[in-house]
Amino acid sequence: MKALVYHGPHKKSWEEKPIPVIQKPSDAIVRITKTTICGTDLHILKGDVPEVTDGRILGHEGVGIVESVGDSVNNFKKGDHVLISCITSCGKCYYCKQGMYSHCEDGGWILGHLVDGTQAEFVRIPHADTSLYHIPKESDEDALVMLSDILPTGYECGVLNGKISPGSSVAIVGAGPIGLAALLTAQFFAPGTIIMIDPDDNRLGVARKFGATDTVNNKKEDPVKSTLAITENRGVDTAIEAVGIPETFELCESIVGPGGTIANIGVHGKSVELHLETLWSKNITITTRLVDTVTTPLLLKSVQSKKLDSKKLITHHFELSDIMNAYDVFGNAAKEKALKVILKA
Ligand SMILES: [Zn+2]
Ligand SMILES: [Zn+2]
Repeated sequence: MKALVYHGPHKKSWEEKPIPVIQKPSDAIVRITKTTICGTDLHILKGDVPEVTDGRILGHEGVGIVESVGDSVNNFKKGDHVLISCITSCGKCYYCKQGMYSHCEDGGWILGHLVDGTQAEFVRIPHADTSLYHIPKESDEDALVMLSDILPTGYECGVLNGKISPGSSVAIVGAGPIGLAALLTAQFFAPGTIIMIDPDDNRLGVARKFGATDTVNNKKEDPVKSTLAITENRGVDTAIEAVGIPETFELCESIVGPGGTIANIGVHGKSVELHLETLWSKNITITTRLVDTVTTPLLLKSVQSKKLDSKKLITHHFELSDIMNAYDVFGNAAKEKALKVILKA
């Protein structure tokens, strides 16, 4: 089969690899029909994720058809149409029993990281019974690819941890696919104000179409001043960090109001300054989380019933065999006006 293979920092190729086989009775082999590229894949290619070794097939999102299952798989059989979760969970360990699948002792984020991933014609899914979801008949596959990672990530790490409530004020720092996924799912709770902060006017335009009440270009204006002006000098009830650099986290510290929550989504590679000298008395909560994908079954229903239009996040379509080109487009997201790309096998 063909697959997108990582060969160390800045090196990848679309090449021939053996079709994966069942290794444990709880495995399934899935033939990929649609997959996508994530910002995390770009981090890997920059060399930011050193556990990813030369020869690894990338990708942790996708949908497909079950090709074969191991002897202990009960919930799935050959021919089933399935959604692949970016988080693998055994369902039995200490953390899985608390719904913290991201910390599964025999799983977590392993696809396209510690085991071969979904940017290939076939993928082996460990713990298939608890890591795959049945796709209802007549579903839109493209919309469901957004459920492998970005929708549960925006919703769990940003919206739920951020305790967004009706009428409250929210600022989302970073209007990339994850920030926009948080924007879409924040609206389940009808906040009164949603301020999107980003340096790219095109993405801010998209955010307004997706329901942001206000937008702030932090390259052109002082985002702290603008946010305070919008919130009657109170600051926001929820500040969601969806970038992963010190400046944007510190911006969240400056715009959160008394009693508010900073919900971090960004993947941070550097330490940030915690301004306790201003925050100590403000009744602030700071949350961190890796997506657990515990909300995937419910988000699947929201997409099915069209309460959540996840297809809006897709800007480009490619054949899977054209993935090298798709990486170039996704890697130049601002210039290409790219959000999520769909790769069709
Ligand atoms: Zn991802
Ligand atoms: Zn587990």
